[in-house]
Amino acid sequence: MRSIIILGATGSIGSTCINAIIGKKLDFQVKGLVSFSDPGIIALARTFSCPYLLMKGKKDGELLEFLKENRADIVLNGIAGSAGLKASLDVISLNMDLALANKESIVLGGSFLFSEAARNGVRIIPVDSEHSCLYNLLRAFPDARELVITASGGPFYNRSNTDDVTIGEALNHPTWKMGRKITIDSATLANKGLEVIEAGFLFGFPAGRIRVTVHRQSVVHSLVKVSSGAYYAQLTPPDMTLPIISALSDGKVSIDDIVEPLDFTNLDLTFRSWDKKQFPLLDAAYMCLERKQGWPIAFNMANEVAVNAFLDGRIPYNRIAEIVLDVLDGNWASEASSLAEIEQMMAAAKELACKGLARCSCI
Ligand code: NDP
Ligand code: MG
Repeated sequence: MRSIIILGATGSIGSTCINAIIGKKLDFQVKGLVSFSDPGIIALARTFSCPYLLMKGKKDGELLEFLKENRADIVLNGIAGSAGLKASLDVISLNMDLALANKESIVLGGSFLFSEAARNGVRIIPVDSEHSCLYNLLRAFPDARELVITASGGPFYNRSNTDDVTIGEALNHPTWKMGRKITIDSATLANKGLEVIEAGFLFGFPAGRIRVTVHRQSVVHSLVKVSSGAYYAQLTPPDMTLPIISALSDGKVSIDDIVEPLDFTNLDLTFRSWDKKQFPLLDAAYMCLERKQGWPIAFNMANEVAVNAFLDGRIPYNRIAEIVLDVLDGNWASEASSLAEIEQMMAAAKELACKGLARCSCI
């Protein structure tokens, strides 16, 4: 039986994992649960008779201590946002494998995260549905030439004017039910931008060999192109259970039909292009991956500040992209090769984005 610890246990990823373990009676031993402030963690911990940690208000180093005391074969990082980076590095420093949903860890940590993982002999197994799919496809086709990442297009793909978008409309994702931050990122396609950068670092592909296609049904989770010109894909209904359980079991999912089978008597699959003007944040993310250095960090932090401000009702929807693009106008051409340097750059980008908020006429 594999033992696991779940970080972000009360969130969308954490709950999907826990519901699958309980609902499908999966063979995992839950060794610890971590959330930020949701006291629901206490009842969850009782269910699994395991220790828990509520991180809000706790001192630096408390998560590391908790992980040291409650070691597991693999840790699922389902923390939302940039707070996930330090948690990922804590897991890696204790030589535990990492099932990584927190894409921000990869975008912020970049090569440093992967060199730390290599130094500690730790595997980083992606949970993001597209990357889980690509991870498994690349095992079968290690010489693939190109990655094609699918995007649902979010709630506004067919809407030309987003001036008056409400928070409720932006949170109304057509195919996935997820946490608030990633749902807004899916509306602006910043999420796909983060995923392009994530794929670049995870699989060592340059920006020019990663394509994004809009696939409204979220059934094809991504594709790889091999040298013959053929494409291979993975298809399931939109459900995070498989990517989560696949990462926790290192691809060896032993349970039958862990997700609903597809209904091939009634299945339309469409693939469309996306417009750089309509979705400038996806375009900007390609630039960030090409340049690397501090650009992905600036992209991630400016976007996080802007999305939180939108969710708090402080800025209109269209300001999100403007704030991020303004921050990317700065000079982020220095290499961050330690956690301290990464954190410095994170703080600088955050400060610049906050200045952008202050300049905004706002609502
Ligand atoms: P949610 O907002 O639903 O959940 C976030 C979880 O992280 C909660 O348990 C929350 O605790 C905890 N958390 C928030 N802030 C902190 C902090 N500062 N320190 C420690 N814990 C914290 O997010 P999602 O589950 O949707 O997303 C989690 C990650 O997975 C994100 O990086 C997202 O991009 C990625 N992802 C999510 C997908 C999905 O389907 N949801 C799909 C692919 C990737 P509390 O409840 O106590 O606030
Ligand atoms: Mg994804």
